[in-house]
Amino acid sequence: MKVSSLEYRNQFLLGRSSFELEEFAQTNGMKAFRGRQLHNWLYQKGVKSLDEITVLPKDWRLSLSQRGITTGRLGILKRHVAKDDTIKLLLETIDGEIIETVGIPTKNRLTVCLSSQVGCPMACRFCATGKGGFRRSLNVHEIISQVLSVREAMGRSPSHIVFMGMGEPLLNIETVLESIRCLNSDIGIGQRRITVSTVGVINTLPKLAELAISVLGRAQFTLAVSLHAPNQGLRESLIPSSIAYPLDSLLEDCRHYLSLTGRRISFEYILLGDINDQVEHAEELAARISGFQSHVNLIPYNPIDEETFRRPTLQKVEIFRSVLAKRGIAVSLRASRGLDQNAACGQLRHQHVTRS
Ligand code: SAH
Repeated sequence: MKVSSLEYRNQFLLGRSSFELEEFAQTNGMKAFRGRQLHNWLYQKGVKSLDEITVLPKDWRLSLSQRGITTGRLGILKRHVAKDDTIKLLLETIDGEIIETVGIPTKNRLTVCLSSQVGCPMACRFCATGKGGFRRSLNVHEIISQVLSVREAMGRSPSHIVFMGMGEPLLNIETVLESIRCLNSDIGIGQRRITVSTVGVINTLPKLAELAISVLGRAQFTLAVSLHAPNQGLRESLIPSSIAYPLDSLLEDCRHYLSLTGRRISFEYILLGDINDQVEHAEELAARISGFQSHVNLIPYNPIDEETFRRPTLQKVEIFRSVLAKRGIAVSLRASRGLDQNAACGQLRHQHVTRS
């Protein structure tokens, strides 16, 4: 099945705005308010099938289903709850692909970690998703489905969204931005509570800034850039795609992005024991990004089966953090959540696919 074809996408209602749903109702011989009802039941009530929208005339619901039109909600294949209440869902697409989404609750927040692709072509060495190869990019309804499924599974509304699940969002820019529009206007999650994470794809950052401004009015979401190394040599050994897109060019594009959007950038840095966690690496990183309006997020490596990287000791993490802080770099440490359920990016799906 050609999953990105317009005809295919036209089958699904999730991802459409209130205006588009009104138009949809009208082109189907209904009054505009039927579109607003669809909107309310799709996004607020979170129905899975058109049949549940009992306010709509039964014969209209029937004729839509006969034409293959559905909400676009994905089925849940598996659900894991970790000891810390982090929830991981494996969702199945209509063409039989499997994607992973994670809900991370704290007292005041529910963060949903979204996938933007099935698999990933970037093949970063420490990442489980890359080990399984790349299948395809996701469509808007498949991204929105992930948020609604986590909301339903946890019985509360997500407050924050991070595009840090499977895939490289900047290889699926239009869809990711369209999803942010929907999350923002249809589901009510503020743009400032949304983060898009990228390892860097050549020639995409200016496009992201321009398209964000045209689709969303303003680019107010946070851009997180997966740096993971303070120099080109080390970065290349961890991230093969960086050979074609050197660190210098990536940082220059980040500066340009900042000037276009006015948003400070968040740099992600995985700490791999004895590889990139030494004081000299912290010093080099600080020198490289000093004066750059940014923030560094340190992520202790989450072990994956296929690699022998190690998590750094807590002491090493603390030293790394304090070297950056002393050099005036804003730095935070990401707490590991859901480790007992293999929360690292793409791990759950990878295990499911390789075992079955
Ligand atoms: N492709 C995007 C988004 C998906 S990965 C990107 O690379 O940014 C989201 C974050 O999880 C990235 O910073 C990625 O480097 C990190 N990550 C991947 N595998 C990991 C692992 N095993 N342990 C810790 N972080 C990991």
